[in-house]
Amino acid sequence: MHETYIGRFAPSPTGFLHIGSLLTAVASYVDARANNGRWLLRMEDLDPPREVAGAADAILRTLEAFSLYWDGEVVYQSQRHHLYREALSALQEKDLIYPCFCSRTQIRQTCQEGVDGLIYSGHCRHLKNPDFHLRHAYRIKTADSNIAFHDACVGDYVQNLAQSIGDFVLLRADGLWAYQLAVVVDDGEQKITHIVRGKDLLVSTPRQIYLQQCLNLATPHYAHLPLLTNREGQKWSKQTKAPPLKTQNKEKILKRVLQYLMPHQDIPDDDCPALLSWASSVWDIHQIPIDPIQTEEYK
Ligand code: GLU
Ligand code: ZN
Repeated sequence: MHETYIGRFAPSPTGFLHIGSLLTAVASYVDARANNGRWLLRMEDLDPPREVAGAADAILRTLEAFSLYWDGEVVYQSQRHHLYREALSALQEKDLIYPCFCSRTQIRQTCQEGVDGLIYSGHCRHLKNPDFHLRHAYRIKTADSNIAFHDACVGDYVQNLAQSIGDFVLLRADGLWAYQLAVVVDDGEQKITHIVRGKDLLVSTPRQIYLQQCLNLATPHYAHLPLLTNREGQKWSKQTKAPPLKTQNKEKILKRVLQYLMPHQDIPDDDCPALLSWASSVWDIHQIPIDPIQTEEYK
């Protein structure tokens, strides 16, 4: 048991809650409750063009229907631009960021494929006289050294940012904050100690640890959950048309998700609050499988 435990669930309102995002919500909730921790809810609504009208509220109502009650007020990233701006200034004072004027086409033509998209070549890192009238993003200077951490589910993970990712964007040329910066600033400001989320974000974690180091923020504990996939092995997401959860059969759906997280347990028949408190009493994060899990159609 940890002395203080603050966890969180951080959905993006780009679609409705589906079975994959429910698995993340349930695992982070149960891990927090099993550790007598708090479980905060942060709405990651920093990309208005990708948002679906009504999705933020629908996500909250669906969580409540499953008895996944969060602690405190919901935090909306759209109301926290000042915090991201402060962080960017702090990095600027340390000479850790630079403006980047490269177009998408230039980047496509000059950069190699890495572990998560193209590895930025560093072209703008040493520009002599940047013309700030031109559209530009801000990138952080990465270091050519390994970032290693231990993940409660996946085990040891190492990445060299300079070699595998390159200098990455913090503020996009269209003025939107990059996920990497916002998530680190908010996890720091909310004093999050434990992050439980989908394995699709494992590859982002070294970038986030590096930003924490640059901003003098503590590094939380991480646990990356197996992805739920459709029959074709694709991650359930908006792109793969994950059906939004219906709450009529919520006990059945919750039992299914708990069975994925606790393959060695017999899940009892009960209502959602009782299932969640039972799960918290027998929870062992190390029992969560690592490999992707194929889920049949759920409606
Ligand atoms: N908002 C992100 C997503 O929906 C999750 C962020 C995180 O857990 O770090 O994929
Ligand atoms: Zn550039």
